[in-house]
Amino acid sequence: MGRTSKDKRDVYYRLAKENGWRARSAFKLLQLDEQFQLFQGVTRAVDLCAAPGSWSQVLSQKIGGQGCGHVVVAVDLQAMAPIPGVVQIQGDITQLSTAKEIIQHFEGCPADLVVCDGAPDVTGLHDVDEYMQAQLLLAALNIATHVLKPGGCFVAKIFRGRDVTLLYSQLRVFFSSVLCAKPRSSRNSSIEAFAVCQSYDPPAGFTPDLTRPLLDHSYDPDFNQLDGPSRIIVPFVTCGDLSSYDSDRSYPLDLEDGSEYKYTPPTQPPISPSYQEACRLKKKGWLAKEIHPQHHPISRVDTLPQ
Ligand code: SAM
Repeated sequence: MGRTSKDKRDVYYRLAKENGWRARSAFKLLQLDEQFQLFQGVTRAVDLCAAPGSWSQVLSQKIGGQGCGHVVVAVDLQAMAPIPGVVQIQGDITQLSTAKEIIQHFEGCPADLVVCDGAPDVTGLHDVDEYMQAQLLLAALNIATHVLKPGGCFVAKIFRGRDVTLLYSQLRVFFSSVLCAKPRSSRNSSIEAFAVCQSYDPPAGFTPDLTRPLLDHSYDPDFNQLDGPSRIIVPFVTCGDLSSYDSDRSYPLDLEDGSEYKYTPPTQPPISPSYQEACRLKKKGWLAKEIHPQHHPISRVDTLPQ
């Protein structure tokens, strides 16, 4: 595949590079903001699962992360190249130690906005992928309950699978308004969407507790009722200007103004990506190859030189 073919196939990928964003995901947050004015009055924000950092770039630009009292805290398992005005934490958001480190930054001065674009490594087994995604979302929500100010906002990636209704009802326990939003830059073919939860308003008697799972809703016995009048129907909203690019279409590389297309390299190549080691081994011919015994009488697994 030529290096420009992805530019043609994925217009948001190309635009991200041309506009200096580290990832095409930047457009998802920008389009969500167009619809919901997420950044209005926001000075303190958390970006969970932030690498390579395009949402942090947007946050840093939109809420002036460098001003006095302004703060953006970005967290990811992966290392991330620095972004001006963004405090970085490398860690797993499902781990207590990471959660504590994040919360420290907001003690006495809570956050207005928590965003989470977290995605596990997709296995292709839908139930497993949805379960892992839901675990990430619950970890993010748990952190949000510790750092958000009343009235604050939480935006998180969700997979619209079989159990999404349960997820909505869990979110509605904590927020007055919960919507499911699909930005134009998120492919229709993907079950990805974003829960936009506004007006943080935890139930009376709720005390955030990192040691107690959020699913233990002893303070709200009705919350798991998915049938009858208490079943929560969450509005679905598509966002992003209808005239904006369709992420499922391929666009020609020639520019509308007639100027010549010029390849733009990625804004920020990943630092220490997990595929680096695999590439090194492949180059040396050391990658393990399993040969199916049906076709080859002797099954062989190459071993790495010590
Ligand atoms: N919003 C990012 C941006 O705009 O650049 C893209 C995020 S990417 C789709 C998903 C990220 O989730 C990955 O960088 C991955 O490392 C991170 N992630 C997955 N599980 C995580 C976990 N348990 N803790 C922290 N980060 C996690």
